[in-house]
Amino acid sequence: MARLLRQWIVNQLLFAQFDSHRDVCRKAVWVGLKVTLLAYGLNLAAHFMLYWLDLLPYALGSALIIATVLTPPITFIVSVAAYVAVGFAIHDLGVSQAEFRMLSRTDMLSGLPNRRAFLEQFDRCDREKAMLVFDIDQFKAVNDTYGHVVGDEAIISVARVLAEVFSNCCTCARIGGEEFAVFSCDMPFGEFAALGEVARNRISGKQIETGDGRFCVTVSGGLARALPDEQFGEVFSRADKALYSAKSGGRNRIVLCY
Ligand code: GH3
Ligand code: MG
Ligand code: MG
Repeated sequence: MARLLRQWIVNQLLFAQFDSHRDVCRKAVWVGLKVTLLAYGLNLAAHFMLYWLDLLPYALGSALIIATVLTPPITFIVSVAAYVAVGFAIHDLGVSQAEFRMLSRTDMLSGLPNRRAFLEQFDRCDREKAMLVFDIDQFKAVNDTYGHVVGDEAIISVARVLAEVFSNCCTCARIGGEEFAVFSCDMPFGEFAALGEVARNRISGKQIETGDGRFCVTVSGGLARALPDEQFGEVFSRADKALYSAKSGGRNRIVLCY
């Protein structure tokens, strides 16, 4: 009996909607009605059994009136209150868990997904995919010339361009200081490579305003094609090798690693 009751309570919680306080209240009323019906039925059954055993110390009629007047409202109020209290707590926990999950997967400076989110999504894709790693060129010089705050603005500016170019089709992330990565899942490789060139050109043409004038940054990229079952680490190391070639080849270019 205790196990059945426990399972019933767990089922009520599992099937309930905790997306909003309103959902919790709606479900609380529904569960409250069911609990009330159950408690009232048990109460009546207990009275009839005591009466049948000749153990009822008062008249059956009065006992049933009192049971009918008291049991349903008290059970309803107590069960709804208990459900609402537990339901609100579950809802609030769910909200903070979702917030924590979002924060732990978002890069706070650029607003893009971070390395962890990128890695998870990349490994989850089991179709044809490709990865593009971008690194801002001579970024140390930007910091040295204009300061870290302006450097941060340059990172945000690059992130915006990548988000504009890739947001509809690919996942892009900031995976390190001035490093970004993009991957396509189930997209023709030529199309992905072409978008990479669009992004690189837009970044080099975008001016970043500072109190001391305007400047532009360029990015170098390493592009690697991946097999559906290849994991982040293997593909990233090929893309990184290609990025290294792009740097040593003069920067502001994308190199493909076969
Ligand atoms: P390369 O073209 O070879 O990539 O040269 P680089 O100067 O960009 O590369 P390097 O690795 O020497 O310097 C990267 C710089 O990026 C150093 C570091 O201070 C800066 N950096 C890393 N993260 C941030 C950040 O969040 N904000 C700012 N402003 N600078 C950052
Ligand atoms: Mg770097
Ligand atoms: Mg760099």
